[in-house]
Amino acid sequence: MNQVVELILKPNFVAEVSKGYPLILKEAAESIDDSIEEGTLLKIVRPNRKYIATGYYGKQNKGIGWVLSNNPNEEINEAFFEEKFRQAFKKREAFYQKDDTTAFRVFNGEGDGIGGLTIDYFDGFYMVSFYSKGIYLFRTPIFAALKEAAANLRGIYEKKRFDTNGQYVEQDDYVAGEVGEFPLIIKENGMNYAVNLNDGAMTGIFLDQRNVRLALRERFSEGKTVLNTFSYTGAFSVAAALGGAYETTSVDLAKRSLPLTIEQFSVNGIDYEQQQIKVMNVFDYFSYAARHQLKFDVVVLDPPSFARTKKMTFSTSKDYPKLIGEAIEITASNGIIIASTNNASFNMKKFKTFIDKAFKDKNKRYKIVEQHQLPEDFTTLEDYPEFNYLKVCIIQLLK
Ligand code: SAH
Repeated sequence: MNQVVELILKPNFVAEVSKGYPLILKEAAESIDDSIEEGTLLKIVRPNRKYIATGYYGKQNKGIGWVLSNNPNEEINEAFFEEKFRQAFKKREAFYQKDDTTAFRVFNGEGDGIGGLTIDYFDGFYMVSFYSKGIYLFRTPIFAALKEAAANLRGIYEKKRFDTNGQYVEQDDYVAGEVGEFPLIIKENGMNYAVNLNDGAMTGIFLDQRNVRLALRERFSEGKTVLNTFSYTGAFSVAAALGGAYETTSVDLAKRSLPLTIEQFSVNGIDYEQQQIKVMNVFDYFSYAARHQLKFDVVVLDPPSFARTKKMTFSTSKDYPKLIGEAIEITASNGIIIASTNNASFNMKKFKTFIDKAFKDKNKRYKIVEQHQLPEDFTTLEDYPEFNYLKVCIIQLLK
């Protein structure tokens, strides 16, 4: 049984937490014992020591833990986790029944009642990601509960996504069940994607972009030239090629992106030699394209929140307008820019101001023709849109 420590909230944080705000902010605590250990259960109380909620202590980049329950009698044990998992998996019933989509998120952290914990389903393999040491210390009841609640369970893998002594632990661990043979080929709306659950933090596909890939394939690709920047394994390029794109160009700095992109094309029966794959800095590619007066019908922008190369640093919250400006220069008239970010530090409204600024600076008109946030399986709390980190605008340049 984990130890329980009382956490007294400051008066101005009582109302939010009582109403259901799930994150425990450091500044919300009246005082917190420095010797408190990760994974400690927190009895969260008002200044007059009256019970509000039960949570756990686990430091992440934002906050020092998460609320788990508003019931003083509820114990945080295997039965608790099992019930949360069952509810979450039930919500995804329609996904489990699909034949043309075999990978989706089955548990989305605070959106499903346990912040700091996500579970993705890949054709029978459950990949559990722990975002703090605190939640990782509950792994025994979590895995026991998962084995009880999981449908079509073939195997379990885990990802430790937290900082230990300044080092991200990214070695992957097989946990239980069948040992996967990787790459595993999953389906998404009938497209194939090769995934690897045993090779670093990233699996080869970001499941939260499913609807955007479908939009690109169905509505923006036919006969078009498509530039996919920050392309990683080329997941957007595959969608575009299957949607009938005339040619795709994938650009990523990481050397591994070349074999991974070839693989994604190949598992879809697309001849990668008919596509362009460039291992280079996106910003150098923009200069190259401008110099050669290349224009694309569609440009996909999906940068990491922060990136540092030898020459430069890029931060979406500072540099997104500039990125869009570069894209405008090489987009054909009436062309499309798909601008995406997963930076949680600003919202959709702010993101749109970046877009607006970029177009104003270039003296160009535009229209946002579609916008996307997290898909249905990435359950979020309606009252707290700040946890819906994904923001995608599909923008048409107007003449
Ligand atoms: N769009 C991808 C995911 C992008 S992940 C998808 O849908 O799957 C971010 C990628 O950006 C990483 O693969 C990283 O190697 C790449 N990257 C970061 N900085 C870069 C830069 N300056 N130029 C090119 N690629 C970069």
